[in-house]
Amino acid sequence: MLFFMENKESKFLKISCPRCRKTQIVFGKSATRVKCSKCNKLLIKNTGGKAKIKARVQEIL
Ligand SMILES: [Zn+2]
Repeated sequence: MLFFMENKESKFLKISCPRCRKTQIVFGKSATRVKCSKCNKLLIKNTGGKAKIKARVQEIL
């Protein structure tokens, strides 16, 4: 399941990997791609200045 939450890009997010369920804290407005530290799945990619989050957002910090 994929979630796209483009309006949350300026906050810290607690996301969980849809593949291995590892949780990690990321900055939503990350300028670079963010990969899962465990299984290396691409969790956030940046397209045109907007972060596309392809992971489960558990909490907005
Ligand atoms: Zn993972």
